[in-house]
Amino acid sequence: MKTKKINIRAGWLIDGTGAPARRNVILKIENGIIQSLSDLQFYNVDQDDIADFSAYTIIPGLIDSHVHLCMSGTDDQKIRQKQLKSTFADAEHVISTHLRQSLLSGVIAVRDGGDYGAYALRYKKKRYDIKKSIVEIKTAGRAWRNHGRYGKLIGRPPSQDKTLGEEILDKDESIDHVKIVNSGLNSLKEFGKETSPQFNPYDLKDAVNAASSLGLKVMVHANGRLPVENSIEAGCASIEHGFFMGEKNLGRMAEKKITWVPTACTMKAYAEYLSQDSIEAKISRKTLEDQIGQLVMARALGVTVAVGTDSGSLGVHHGSSIIEELKLFMQAGFSLEETLKASVLNGSALMGLNKTGPIIKGNKASFIVVDGPPAGLPESLKNIKAVYKEEAWH
Ligand SMILES: [Zn+2]
Repeated sequence: MKTKKINIRAGWLIDGTGAPARRNVILKIENGIIQSLSDLQFYNVDQDDIADFSAYTIIPGLIDSHVHLCMSGTDDQKIRQKQLKSTFADAEHVISTHLRQSLLSGVIAVRDGGDYGAYALRYKKKRYDIKKSIVEIKTAGRAWRNHGRYGKLIGRPPSQDKTLGEEILDKDESIDHVKIVNSGLNSLKEFGKETSPQFNPYDLKDAVNAASSLGLKVMVHANGRLPVENSIEAGCASIEHGFFMGEKNLGRMAEKKITWVPTACTMKAYAEYLSQDSIEAKISRKTLEDQIGQLVMARALGVTVAVGTDSGSLGVHHGSSIIEELKLFMQAGFSLEETLKASVLNGSALMGLNKTGPIIKGNKASFIVVDGPPAGLPESLKNIKAVYKEEAWH
């Protein structure tokens, strides 16, 4: 087989490990694998063919660690209602569109938090269009919630005669991870109102152990102190949302190396989409501020954080919303390099992607090219020059 080589000159390069941006880098790729990254000054430019991106910044393909592929971010209630009851035939068209939108914003992998029909899973199993869309999918299929509690849109309760752990062990659905809903939604009427945990601590722990025996990580939707605390103690891999969880929980997460996916942009979207004078918009703004405060704490405590948007939530659009979430991380004091690390390195670890993520020697080459220096990011993601993945330009 002929070796397929490409050499690239990057004006600036951020590798996604948290290392500072580098100036004038030569990136060598062979058969889709990164061979080396070297400084331009030590390189003989005449030696090889080179793709010249000296006026551009190269960053790794982004990872969105929390999406719902079946749902669109539209505020058109008719469409939202329809999507909640859609057939697979309708859903697969919608999912294809969302994957294309993701790629256009530089998102090359998504972690799906579930849908009521397990359509994202079915779509993935059929695999068509995936090659074309290039975006890698990991999905929970249907999430687990408790009887009479929040989560109907994305999951189902265990049957009455079984524990959550037994259900997880019994279902052979070829899922990539388990999603458990362990609290309600945030109240948009009463700031910081906490809901009770959906599962008791024993059932939750048993469920995490069951998942672990199948080699699956557990992502837990949890807001508020107690629902988060129980999820941490159960040994979940990640806390999703985690609004109002408080500093003590953040400290425990740092200790136990549990990842936090704050999905802060959902509150920003509510604040913008809901009627401006409404109490709901006011509470959304306050909740967003509080979440940014928690991100500041998480950074200080050294909590592993990942970038997830909850795309499909009201006003949270697949692809473009990642720019909003990256901006909110930076608003909380994360540098651009730290923010990209959260998306790329931490997202890749959470999804269990093999050799995909940071632009480092030995990894699969997957990166995006944006106009101008890094100072233009994340805004410059709105106009991506090119995406390279799976040994080809897109
Ligand atoms: Zn979600």
